[in-house]
Amino acid sequence: MQTAWKEYQEKNQQRFLDEMLELLRIPSISAKSECKDDMRKCAEMVKQRLLDSGADKAEVMETEGHPVVYGEKIIDPSKPTVLVYGHYDVQPPEPLELWHSGPFDPVIKDGKVYARGSADDKGQFYMHVKALETMVKTNTMATNIKFLIEGEEEVGSPNLGKFVSQHKEKLKADVILISDSSMISMENPSLDIGVRGLSYIEVEVTGANRDLHSGTYGGAVANPIIILAKMIASLHDENNHVTIPGFYDDVVNASKEERELMAKAPYNEQEYKDELGIKETWGEKGFTTGERTGIRPTIEVNGIWGGYLGEGAKTVLPSKATAKISARLVPNQSSRKITDMLLEHFKKIAPPSVKVEAFEHHGGEPYMTPIDSKGYKAAAKAVQTTFGKEPIPVRGGGSIPICSILEKELGIKIVFMGFGLDNDNLHSPNEKYNLENYYKGIETIPYFHKFFAQE
Ligand SMILES: [Zn+2]
Repeated sequence: MQTAWKEYQEKNQQRFLDEMLELLRIPSISAKSECKDDMRKCAEMVKQRLLDSGADKAEVMETEGHPVVYGEKIIDPSKPTVLVYGHYDVQPPEPLELWHSGPFDPVIKDGKVYARGSADDKGQFYMHVKALETMVKTNTMATNIKFLIEGEEEVGSPNLGKFVSQHKEKLKADVILISDSSMISMENPSLDIGVRGLSYIEVEVTGANRDLHSGTYGGAVANPIIILAKMIASLHDENNHVTIPGFYDDVVNASKEERELMAKAPYNEQEYKDELGIKETWGEKGFTTGERTGIRPTIEVNGIWGGYLGEGAKTVLPSKATAKISARLVPNQSSRKITDMLLEHFKKIAPPSVKVEAFEHHGGEPYMTPIDSKGYKAAAKAVQTTFGKEPIPVRGGGSIPICSILEKELGIKIVFMGFGLDNDNLHSPNEKYNLENYYKGIETIPYFHKFFAQE
């Protein structure tokens, strides 16, 4: 079986790549309404590729937002079924001037594909499509496979929960497999055992009823930018703990054993700093960098603006200032509860000199997968087989909001088998995906199905 897979994949390597590049050329930016047609075009292409790769059935299905692509290959209803989840939408590519090549004009350089969506998530979910093809064409399918490829992950999957609950029967499976995360390195493969949750709000501070002359009124009327900056600065104390009362109340502290296991993951602080061009790391006192991004909740400011942003100087005392603020959450924090807490907090700390309004964007719950589950064991064995090394279980820093919804609606566990790297520039300019990782993923996935069927 193994040699047949390898032979087939080596023979079709170039085409596997070309097909991925074609997907990357479609600007499927879910956040931009002007990309609506491209979203559909991308969904149609994914559907066609599923059919071409051996799926019995594939369809573009409507939601209230961007469509979902569903596909399946059922070999035997008595065999276990694996539901592959991925997303064909991407983040906006801005700022464009920082890209070395066009975000939707994939370029291959030093063994890496540079394009928006290469690692997140087109290149990664497409490995599953090519793994399906490998198994179909070599007649070695061990499980039934279903695909759920959505188009709204990057905007918080607002319609997927409803879609899943309406199609429970169709999506019925024994495990959910997701490749939308990264591993430590090719030498030190790892598997995510959890993702953080998310709360996201926007705060608008309004002072005077119009922009004012900063000479005539400055010093006498509150400046919304200064007020907003002060409120944001007050979110952390001198140890970089979050100061919002109750923020840490529901956090399940990682056990000593888990922290020890995490500490075993290879990590070089100097390399980490060099790669980012920073002199020092920053974060909550008492925790390592890996812990800060894995087992601890955080608050970040994602954007802040107000006043005059044009060329040259303009002496203005602005009327408004706005910030986008998000929190990453860990088990057992609730996105709903923390979002409400953030909204309330900003209203509470607002001084009477300004009006503060706060509203929410999307959120998502944290998720953990047990390492003694059938799915995790199959993934670990698959990685061990192709990488020659047992993967290290790690907690990912990112969020996949749909995880807790998928588990709740379908009643099955999720396994994360990501093949990206942390330096893939996800959501940043010059996003890339290493070809080696792409091919290694396609090589590894069939083993997951094989071992999952045996478990
Ligand atoms: Zn993603």
